[in-house]
Amino acid sequence: MQRARRRAVFAWAIAVAGLIGLLMGSARKSYAGAPRDGDRFVNLAGPRPMPGIGDMFPFLMRKAWTSLSHRSGAAKLVPYDPAALLHNPSVTWIGHATFLVRMDGVTFLTDPIFSERASPVFFAGPQRQVAPGVPLDALPRLDFVTISHDHYDHADYDSIKALAARGIPFIVPLGLGALVREAGGTVTELDWWQQATVGPVQVYCVPAQHFSGRSLADSNERLWAGWVVAGPTRRFYHAGDTGYWDGFRAIGERLGPIDLAALPIGAYDPPAIMRFVHMNPEEAIQAAIDLRASTAVAMHYGTFDLTDEPLDEPPRRFHAEATRRALEPVAAWTLNIGETRSW
Ligand code: ZN
Ligand code: ZN
Repeated sequence: MQRARRRAVFAWAIAVAGLIGLLMGSARKSYAGAPRDGDRFVNLAGPRPMPGIGDMFPFLMRKAWTSLSHRSGAAKLVPYDPAALLHNPSVTWIGHATFLVRMDGVTFLTDPIFSERASPVFFAGPQRQVAPGVPLDALPRLDFVTISHDHYDHADYDSIKALAARGIPFIVPLGLGALVREAGGTVTELDWWQQATVGPVQVYCVPAQHFSGRSLADSNERLWAGWVVAGPTRRFYHAGDTGYWDGFRAIGERLGPIDLAALPIGAYDPPAIMRFVHMNPEEAIQAAIDLRASTAVAMHYGTFDLTDEPLDEPPRRFHAEATRRALEPVAAWTLNIGETRSW
């Protein structure tokens, strides 16, 4: 009898220890590096559902047509204010996912693209609809540059080369270092949840739900990520490219509250192809809430004509949703290209 009771207690102890181990394991897992399948990276939600030819072919045909016809509705360009660029803290939209950010005494650039096309060749691929808000030559002295992933609209070789020539260090996700080194740059490569220190700020590589590839042969060989730059007084988040997923909550819990979150709001149509890898404006607002962001600044729209939605639809839907969710007027920003705002 005594023995049976001891055995029952022992069994319970094992079960409880197992449960605690499981819980700790899952907590650890959510802050672990990016999952891999062989030498390729994988999203936490599993492989990206591949669009069928029935969706892809008509989409590519429509894109071929819009690349020739030049649709209207691009974001407005305003002259930049050289003095405002140096305000601390401030954010300046240069276009697409490129921001110049000043905070806690450091100055950095996100996903720099200053080229005419988001493409490996100069004669084809998505063409810039608006000039960069600040030309490369007019940028202030930079402390570092972040790149979210290897797609041509985020990792532009000529822009990397020009910034590398000035000796500005790069911080990139795993696997993207070779491209930066080839362009002559010095680079730190990070896995999800790893961080680098630059002067007074910590730069955290955080998960995103996307994919990568610069050719047909290298898909998902380089990691995709977002960035949280955390300083003594401010926290800035740049989402890179990402679908809507529960990772925003994890980022907010671990590194929030975020003072300013740069969130992609464009490239969502058709959803059959884009939904898993890009957010629509309503999802971007939900992401801002998940992140515990006090302000969201929109990006990834109005600069390159990448997908089906009208170029001026994302900011309209972004503000409509921000009003509906009671974030307006202070917490949801769409900037003009070239505009600087304090935060
Ligand atoms: Zn991308
Ligand atoms: Zn993109």
